[in-house]
Amino acid sequence: MDAACQFVSESPPSESDDKFHDECGVFGVWNVPDAAAVTALGLHALQHRGQEATGIVSYNGTRFNSHRGLGLVGDNFSDAKIIASLPGRIAVGHNRYATTGETILRNVQPLFADFEFGGFAVAHNGNLTNAEALHRQLVRRGCLFQSTTDSEVFIHLIAISLYSTVEDRLIDALKQVVGAYSLVALSNKALFGVRDPLGVRPLILGRILGHTDGGWVLASETCALDIVGAEFVRDIEPGEIVIINDAGVRSIKPFARQKERFCVFEYIYFARPDSVMEGTPVYEARKAIGRVLARESGVEADVIVPVPDSGVPAAMGYSQQSGIPFELGIIRNHYVGRTFIEPTDQIRNLGVKLKHSANRPMLEGKRVILVDDSIVRGTTSKKIVEMVRAAGAKEVHMRISSPPTTHSCYYGIDTPERGKLLAATHDLEGMARIIGVDSLAYISLDGLYRALGKPGRDTAKPAYCDACFTGDYAIPLTDAQANTDRQLSLLQLG
Ligand code: SF4
Repeated sequence: MDAACQFVSESPPSESDDKFHDECGVFGVWNVPDAAAVTALGLHALQHRGQEATGIVSYNGTRFNSHRGLGLVGDNFSDAKIIASLPGRIAVGHNRYATTGETILRNVQPLFADFEFGGFAVAHNGNLTNAEALHRQLVRRGCLFQSTTDSEVFIHLIAISLYSTVEDRLIDALKQVVGAYSLVALSNKALFGVRDPLGVRPLILGRILGHTDGGWVLASETCALDIVGAEFVRDIEPGEIVIINDAGVRSIKPFARQKERFCVFEYIYFARPDSVMEGTPVYEARKAIGRVLARESGVEADVIVPVPDSGVPAAMGYSQQSGIPFELGIIRNHYVGRTFIEPTDQIRNLGVKLKHSANRPMLEGKRVILVDDSIVRGTTSKKIVEMVRAAGAKEVHMRISSPPTTHSCYYGIDTPERGKLLAATHDLEGMARIIGVDSLAYISLDGLYRALGKPGRDTAKPAYCDACFTGDYAIPLTDAQANTDRQLSLLQLG
């Protein structure tokens, strides 16, 4: 490591993409022929979790090799020469959607470092809420940072640990970090999978059969298993570290047990609908949410129209429950890349029309219920409603399959600051007016929990992280609190 760096604050989310964004996807394999090729396939299945950059580190028993690049998995790993430069039966990979640090090559994961015990690569999904505090301490102790991501904190904590084994150093590092994270890490002796003590971010274990001894897979979601011919074994448990080597899989739980708080937004939007999260198929969960939404906020209409793609299963559930026909009244153009959206204001202003078009015969003269998963700033919802009205809809009602997003996420999801969240600054009528709908309704918090098979939200011990709807942050916001305190004292001084 040769350059000292500073952490930078979160880069602003694109105005043109009015959604919460998942932060990263991680993938790792142990004892699999062509591990890098298998990892590229796994990352391809996890592409929805991050499209800004991607990387793979492989190990062939003597040497670590890595390739990291900006852009999609297909942009970086479809060249056979690149895969051939990553030999070995062991590999870890990462898809990045930047939540901290700019998207520059030195921030692209897996991060890799050479220690006295050998090489170590780490791929991190999530966000450390005390990363800035730890960063300051580490810099004071002489650590030189080469990236601006919070993930590099792991590398330095491992480097300065006084323990001798990789495993003990990793545990030592994990005991100092606070946050929501899933890690897949690789040493010359083992593949590690880690989930934070509350299990906010997902991580699963799979098995690849069909060759000598069988191989192991760690992935953010089960949707990455099919493509590599792996079977689901189990979720990694909150606070669990699995250590995979030729002797098999060993599990340790070095943290004090806490009530788990899996991110409920994974069910609503982030996860791919064909994934199973914590035993619940995401597609079924979304349909159940749609059914509850219909029960809670029914309205007379001629047609249910999803805002594609994420609103589709909830809209199907809404249609099943209400008996109102489901139609694809909005068609999504799947071939709009981020690069096409970005270059000029003129193109950016076209915004939603690049991505979505109205299917006029399904809308004209109809009373339409639009179903979407969330409203963040409201800019996209407003444009979609304008488009649907321009196509001749008689009435437009919007139904949202999450409760109002009133708070920012500090646990690894890219969200605007609170003041930019429409639901944080407006009541229901105000939001309906801004978006331009005849009526607007969200699923209730209890309704969301019921759709996921719980009796409702237990306020003393909620089953999920739902902080972006409630402000109930289960993991301390050390850095955010320190920044607020700093700003307050500056104001007082002023
Ligand atoms: Fe998920 Fe919201 Fe919690 Fe963030 S705050 S982890 S998006 S439920």
